[in-house]
Amino acid sequence: MDMRLTGPDRDLATKAREFTEQILIPLEDECETNDGLTPESHATAKQAVLNWEFNAINHAQGNGGQGLDLFQQMLVEEQWGHATGALWDIPWRPSIPLARGTEEQKERFLRPAASGERRDAYAITEEGAGSDPRMVRTSARRDGQDWVIDGEKWHVTSGDVADFFILHTVVDGDPSKPTTFLVDKDTPGVRLVRTPKYMHTFVFEHPIYAFESVRVGDDCRLGEVGEGYELTKDWFVEERLMIGARTMGAAARALDLSLVFAKEREQFGAAIVTFQSIEFMLADMAAEIMAAKSLLYRVCWEAARGGLDRKRLHAEASAVKLVCSETAGRVIDKAVQIFGGRGYMREFPVERLYREIRVDRIWEGTSEIQRVVIGNELRKRGPGVYTGWPGAE
Ligand SMILES: Cc1cc2nc3c(=O)[nH]c(=O)nc-3n(C[C@H](O)[C@H](O)[C@H](O)COP(=O)(O)OP(=O)(O)OC[C@H]3O[C@@H](n4cnc5c(N)ncnc54)[C@H](O)[C@@H]3O)c2cc1C
Repeated sequence: MDMRLTGPDRDLATKAREFTEQILIPLEDECETNDGLTPESHATAKQAVLNWEFNAINHAQGNGGQGLDLFQQMLVEEQWGHATGALWDIPWRPSIPLARGTEEQKERFLRPAASGERRDAYAITEEGAGSDPRMVRTSARRDGQDWVIDGEKWHVTSGDVADFFILHTVVDGDPSKPTTFLVDKDTPGVRLVRTPKYMHTFVFEHPIYAFESVRVGDDCRLGEVGEGYELTKDWFVEERLMIGARTMGAAARALDLSLVFAKEREQFGAAIVTFQSIEFMLADMAAEIMAAKSLLYRVCWEAARGGLDRKRLHAEASAVKLVCSETAGRVIDKAVQIFGGRGYMREFPVERLYREIRVDRIWEGTSEIQRVVIGNELRKRGPGVYTGWPGAE
């Protein structure tokens, strides 16, 4: 088994690390202090994304993207995950279901989103519909040639900077007809309800939007009536792997910072790294990162280059998200402990990582929902996906 990165993969990861160090990390203090970036900083960062060719890494070149496979995307997102303030969200990655649109939809939504002229936000969650999207009440009903949509969506990440929504609805209020629409934000009837504050500092917001008798043409329907879950599944799989990548980047940064600090910080006449309780925390952090990262790399490699089928990828992506996000939570908690009082100060990255990593156990399916997916796989097909090895079956 040759598990070494190829030259082009290594060069890509190096480029992503340099982008993180030169473009994203210098914006961290501004983002934390001002709870976001100024329009000028946004504009500069946006231009940098284009200059470095990190826009739409997840889409085909024919659609204006960089055409990276899932393994390459993971290498890039792992590096971006080092940055606090969710600055990794500056390089936009238009949601993957847009690639399933008609040629006209690609021209109107996907290609401008890939180039940065437009930006999407994916709106599924509602006040009464979170882990169980069958509870979605946002309804679309036919009216002549058009559709009329009514409902309210919560936690719409990047909704403040988006100019169109990928909106998960149910046709005629019927849960067996989940259907996705592309809705321009300036369509009459789209209303910002409010912009709640969250635990983390995030470069963009997660507003609540109401959709009140919003009228769109049939050309705004993405996929068929009833296909809404299939489209969200594509999105979940990709996002769960990328959460795995970013949480590993965050955990690795926490370990790097902790190691430097533990060697420099002296108490009782010695560097704290010489205390076994500190050294053992560092050892646990390192070993846990190694284990989770090995899983992440294996599954992304299989997904991109190993011919993994869609069902199996869905099952494996849940394990990646569960293990990586929970590992990063434990690792960063220890980093805060090693930093002592400084670990509780917002001006230190480990404090920000601690607040920011928490949501990775909640969004794109909570840890409990990942366990539900894994449990279903065990019941239906047995443990092979998790306990076997590619090629050994
Ligand atoms: C910062 C942030 C950004 C977000 N961005 C977006 C976005 O851009 N678009 C979007 O559509 N959504 C977004 N979300 C929503 C997110 O995906 C949901 O919050 C998440 O799926 C959980 O849903 P919920 O909050 O309604 O919790 P609930 O589903 O009400 O869950 C509450 C608790 O019950 C547990 N639970 C629920 N069902 C089960 C079960 N079957 N078995 C065991 N335990 C269970 C959960 O694990 C959790 O612990 C975002 C959320 C946050 C916090």
